[in-house]
Amino acid sequence: MREVIIIGSGPAGFTAGIYTARAGLKPLLIASSVEPGGELMKTTEVENYPGFPTGLQGPELMAAFQEQAERFGTEVLLDDVIEVSLKGDIKIVKTGGGETFEAKTVILATGAAYRELGLPKEKEFSGYGVSWCATCDGFFFREKTIAVIGGGDSAMEEAIFLTRFASKVYLIHRRESFKASKIMQDRALNNPKIEVIWNTEVAELLGETRLTGIKMRDTVTGSEKDLELDGLFIAIGNDPRVWLVENQVELTAERFIQVEGRSSKTSIPGVFAAGDVIDPTYRQAITAAGSGCVAALDAEQYLQDVN
Ligand code: NAP
Repeated sequence: MREVIIIGSGPAGFTAGIYTARAGLKPLLIASSVEPGGELMKTTEVENYPGFPTGLQGPELMAAFQEQAERFGTEVLLDDVIEVSLKGDIKIVKTGGGETFEAKTVILATGAAYRELGLPKEKEFSGYGVSWCATCDGFFFREKTIAVIGGGDSAMEEAIFLTRFASKVYLIHRRESFKASKIMQDRALNNPKIEVIWNTEVAELLGETRLTGIKMRDTVTGSEKDLELDGLFIAIGNDPRVWLVENQVELTAERFIQVEGRSSKTSIPGVFAAGDVIDPTYRQAITAAGSGCVAALDAEQYLQDVN
């Protein structure tokens, strides 16, 4: 029987690993069978993580998180959790690799996943002109014309990054003001390769076997117009990954895991949650890391009480 199992390997998961390992709890951290590290593995330069004044690459930061967690004895398992049973005193965690683990506490740090537009052909064109990850796919659009959808920090970041490759980047937003922070907006608006198309949504993805363009709809007048494109990057936010636990722990109206006040305590004793999966507001690497620390301390306190 484990003292603590951590599910997720972003900043929240690894920070929970560092703290619970240092507390002597020998945590098992189930990372992912594909790529541990969470969403930061898909970013490039991280400029705002305190302690790194000249910035560093997202994957580099996550490798450091993992190294630090392992240094104190966190066991990292590259597997996917496919089922959990959380209600009893003994929590059961099953993986895609066929293993079953038991633990007294579980920390849920499963993060959030890219949101889709919900249009026909969107999935079919994924990898064929439609992408959710500029750092993964930007390279394929050298000297091409592309568009980024969204008005938040992610859309600004993706659009700015893509100007390294593309000859032209349209930034298409459904309203007439951005949601992004001022510094990111200014960078996008001052970039000569970026042209903003306001009050516009994507009505249709055009193309037979790959994306060749989009049909745009004016959100004010309703008028439609086609735009030829080589690529489309969707950056319209994320949805918390709760499918594993949605029938067990309480969720908020927005479908984040509900926690008690400023703690990480979920509706089930011994089950804690941290990072983007509980956070509709801040969603930064540093806030996720802080939240992972909170979950570790809460789990430690719980174990002191029950042991
Ligand atoms: P976000 O802040 O939720 O922004 C999503 C954007 O997409 C909004 O502008 C929204 O429009 C638009 N949108 C949502 N659904 C849409 C749809 N179906 N069709 C068209 N547009 C749609 O998400 P995010 O940009 O991914 O950022 C998430 C969090 O991470 C934020 O807290 C952000 O600050 C943070 N972040 C920070 C950085 C950084 O600091 N460098 C970088 C990336 C992300 P409306 O504005 O009309 O709602």
